[in-house]
Amino acid sequence: VKERGKAHYQFYRSDMTSSLSNVISLETKLRKAIQKKELKLYYQPQIDLNGYTFNSFEALLRWESLSLGVVAPNDFIPLAEDTGLIISIGNWVIETACEQIKVWKALYNKDVRIAVNISPKQFQQPNFIEVIRTSIQKFKIKPSMLEIEITEGLMGNIKEAIPILRKLKELDVIISVDDFGTGYSSLSYIKQFPIDVLKIDQSFVKDVVTNAKDAAITTTIIHLGQNLGMEVIAEGVENKEQEDFLKKANCQKAQGYYYSKPLTCEAAEQFLRGF
Ligand code: C2E
Ligand code: CA
Ligand code: CA
Ligand code: CA
Repeated sequence: VKERGKAHYQFYRSDMTSSLSNVISLETKLRKAIQKKELKLYYQPQIDLNGYTFNSFEALLRWESLSLGVVAPNDFIPLAEDTGLIISIGNWVIETACEQIKVWKALYNKDVRIAVNISPKQFQQPNFIEVIRTSIQKFKIKPSMLEIEITEGLMGNIKEAIPILRKLKELDVIISVDDFGTGYSSLSYIKQFPIDVLKIDQSFVKDVVTNAKDAAITTTIIHLGQNLGMEVIAEGVENKEQEDFLKKANCQKAQGYYYSKPLTCEAAEQFLRGF
């Protein structure tokens, strides 16, 4: 995580800022972004490959800064993590997703599941479970409409993670592992953790049609998930050839530009109405 943070600070220095005071001003801008309502959730549909149904989105954060333009998450989440701002931003993401679930239920009488990305720092907050519980109760949503995406990186401390995940499961939210296959000790924690969904990392999906190793890894993850009773989603699907491969391999769900890029709330509603 440190390494990644460093890389991104270099990006800030070379592309956006040239001095420490500029980094600080970026932090100040980010600090104000919530109050100024500059943070937005975009929604990327996840398609059920069995009959092309659809019932879930992944929420992806965007910072629509008046002074900087649209900032992608990879360009401000590392800073948010280093400064601790990720806690209030992450809480906002959870609350906004829960509210959206409620709004769509009210508008379209549809149960739409929304997956939110959770930073390790957020997950390790003592009140993390309370934040989730409070948001679910505030908007009176079905807990199973909220999906929590964690990464293997978060699993550094298995002993601490297990009780948190168990409490999340007691709440009945869905737990998924993002970027599956790119971290460490996958099989050990997959056995111990109450996981509902595996998300195959897009690095395996990218060349799945032409690269025998990627094909083998992808197929193996799908079988693993199936044998353990988990749902499997392939990420970064960009063309029909990849979809054909995934369908043949019995992958349940797919997400990627082939179906839709992440959509604004309004565009997501249009997408919903089409289904
Ligand atoms: P991720 O969770 O692995 O999200 C998938 C990324 O792939 C997203 O980038 C998405 O826009 C992009 N993507 C989707 N379909 C395709 C495709 O077909 N091809 C390609 N090449 N890319 C595709 P995005 O939105 O820029 O987000 C980047 C990362 O930032 C996310 O990776 C996630 O780790 C993080 N992130 C996003 N939103 C949040 C958030 O609310 N909280 C936290 N903690 N992290 C977030
Ligand atoms: Ca994700
Ligand atoms: Ca991912
Ligand atoms: Ca990722």
